[in-house]
Amino acid sequence: MFISISTTGTAAHPATDLGYLLHKHPGKAQRFSTSHGEAHVFYPEAGEQRCTAALLLDVDPVALVRRSRGHAKGASSAAAGAAALSQYVNDRPYAASSLLAVALRSVFRTAMKGACEQRPGLAEQPRELTVVLPAVAAGGGEERTPGERSLVERLFEPLGWQVTASAIPLDETFPAWGDSRYKRLELTGTLLLADALQQLYVLLPVLDGAKHYWVAPDEVDKLLAAGEGWLADHPDHALITRRYLHRRWSLANEALRRLELARLAEADDSEAEELDNAVALDPESGEPTVTSSLVGTMAEPVAVVPARVSADAGTGDTGAGAAEAPAAAEADGAGKLVPLARRRRAAIVALLAEVGAARVLDLGCGQGELVGELLKEKRITEVLGVDVSTSALAAAARKLRLERLPERQAARVRLVQGALTYTDARLKGYDAAVLCEVIEHLDLPRLPALEYAVFGAARPATVIVTTPNAEYNVRWESLPAGHHRHADHRFEWDRAEFRAWAEQVAANYGYTVAFHPVGPEDPQVGPPTQLAMFRHGIEPATASAGAPEPATDSATASEPEPATAPEPATATATAPERSAPR
Ligand code: SAH
Repeated sequence: MFISISTTGTAAHPATDLGYLLHKHPGKAQRFSTSHGEAHVFYPEAGEQRCTAALLLDVDPVALVRRSRGHAKGASSAAAGAAALSQYVNDRPYAASSLLAVALRSVFRTAMKGACEQRPGLAEQPRELTVVLPAVAAGGGEERTPGERSLVERLFEPLGWQVTASAIPLDETFPAWGDSRYKRLELTGTLLLADALQQLYVLLPVLDGAKHYWVAPDEVDKLLAAGEGWLADHPDHALITRRYLHRRWSLANEALRRLELARLAEADDSEAEELDNAVALDPESGEPTVTSSLVGTMAEPVAVVPARVSADAGTGDTGAGAAEAPAAAEADGAGKLVPLARRRRAAIVALLAEVGAARVLDLGCGQGELVGELLKEKRITEVLGVDVSTSALAAAARKLRLERLPERQAARVRLVQGALTYTDARLKGYDAAVLCEVIEHLDLPRLPALEYAVFGAARPATVIVTTPNAEYNVRWESLPAGHHRHADHRFEWDRAEFRAWAEQVAANYGYTVAFHPVGPEDPQVGPPTQLAMFRHGIEPATASAGAPEPATDSATASEPEPATAPEPATATATAPERSAPR
């Protein structure tokens, strides 16, 4: 398996600078052992005018078979399976594939990062590059109508490469047999070497369509790291993502979601992770991770939609996705996108101001974005953030810089671990509670337990609940039909379902409820987020619910805990009147 990279030069800027960029001396042939065989790096030519570096990967077929066997076991990996099936005769030692991509990365790791300490500035200069791959499974025999671009062209041309793909006959001595499914590929372009290597690292396996190893979740990280700066805006980024992740849909969706966030963050000039706390932070390093199973990291697959609504921004932004869906994020007056998560927080803060709440619970506070917003409000004297996830709380504490807050500020906020399906004395006596994008993370049968713990036991005068509007999901391009916005969502309700639930809860616990859309309201499917504000003790006339339904039996029955008798659920009977004047 072979790849060569050539560049041109002049006396002032000799082509042999390629050696510095690749961190491999042009005068030496070097050998590296990789997990699938020996990699050789050498320079067939190394002159001032022209210099070519070559990587030859001598695949060890026995190691390959052994590995693919191990991986095929227990995993339904088509890649591993295919490799195992055709273990006796296959193209793996010859056709450029994920094996070559992995070898490229392990041999040219520093070059791929764009680092060149010996020649500062060199790595930042685009160079005329020619990449030759003598055998590439170019598109897996795709059928094309005349005039349609080939997969290789679609992948490489948008990145600034000129693509020449020449057919390779099956057997030169028998021309009648026709061409093989392999092509000789020549790519030329003026690019940064690091970008070229990153692109090859991602696109070789994409072209080949098979992977020699089981696609594990950390592949998403690898893809996004290598794709930084070019993948998000590639017109075929969805195709690339799916093929790279070998059609593991959950991973592909995760990657696409994060790509979209990255793009939006760019548009919005903020950090991707700010847009959507579903981007989990590793508690140790503070770096984003993809462990979507981490509790406390959930939100929509796409917190905002990549549609630019602004007419006055004047950017002429027609980037990919610009016309994909109506905006869940709308441009504000200055033409900037406002992420949905931020809109949600703004709506909550405004409603809390309306009722004059001073002591507020953020239930299921996640990484503390709302807590941070609440602390900006002078009127709010105390915020208690509660979450079941310690890693989310740790991230929240770090983001809020709790340990560095001045004493007076620090006294206003506390983060505690707690499960909302259990009554908790610490939650009593607050003016308001917020459940922002939390209820959908509970299994439906557990929801009555939360209802009791919040509306029955903690019983603040105001409760604000937000949850996705499932009807709106059709407006999200990256969300396959019938999927939830986040893998951890146990349900997503349409407007009627949410309304019915909220009205029932209000009736059970003696609250009134009002509904507020969050985000732009679509004429057909409504707003992306639905919000219900529950109040009690304010309008006694309407708040008088029927017979108190203490804690819904089914909920408490499944509770191991509540030793205390469920409190009656009418508003006035037991609730401390903490409503502030309007
Ligand atoms: N409110 C935050 C986070 C929403 S994600 C925001 O809008 O950004 C949902 C959060 O609810 C997660 O942090 C998760 O850990 C928490 N959660 C889910 N079930 C919970 C439970 N039973 N008790 C406490 N927290 C829970």
